[in-house]
Amino acid sequence: MTITRRNFIRSMALNSAAIAAATMFPGISFASWKPIDLPAGSIQWSKTPCRFCGTGCGLLVGVSGEKAVAVKGDPNCSVNKGLCCVKGYHSVQILYGKDRFKTAYVRKNGKMVPTPIKEALDLVARQMKASIDEKGKDAVSIYGSGQWSIPDGYAASKFFKGCIGTNNVEANARL
Ligand code: SF4
Repeated sequence: MTITRRNFIRSMALNSAAIAAATMFPGISFASWKPIDLPAGSIQWSKTPCRFCGTGCGLLVGVSGEKAVAVKGDPNCSVNKGLCCVKGYHSVQILYGKDRFKTAYVRKNGKMVPTPIKEALDLVARQMKASIDEKGKDAVSIYGSGQWSIPDGYAASKFFKGCIGTNNVEANARL
């Protein structure tokens, strides 16, 4: 379905209205951009940080069965106090994007080939080791993201600075 500004706003309004009946703060439900009809009380809300940027907004994700079906800002989060930007409102929907990568890709004979994550990680490890052996510890670096959680960043810093011994750690998109 093509998303236009008009049907995006309409979808938000429809779904917000459905969920607002059960809560002070509006949420957005989504199912291929169509309003969904869930029985009252069937959504379980769980806290999570928004992973879309580094601001650190708190989200509540509505889960029905085993699927995330709605999202709203966490009113008890001191960062966003129940509000979200449009990226936060779609940060759960992207879990179900049809074009979402579900495996690693490795270039083989000039073509990107779907590859099991373990095989791809083993390749990265081998290549890193070869680079360090040939050119020294500063031949490698890690490029992180605002989507890193604190444990992600801690593990990356420990590994690169403490284990490998390089300061080449970039934790966000500042290249
Ligand atoms: S809701 Fe928006 S501003 Fe807040 S963390 Fe998510 S993407 Fe960043």
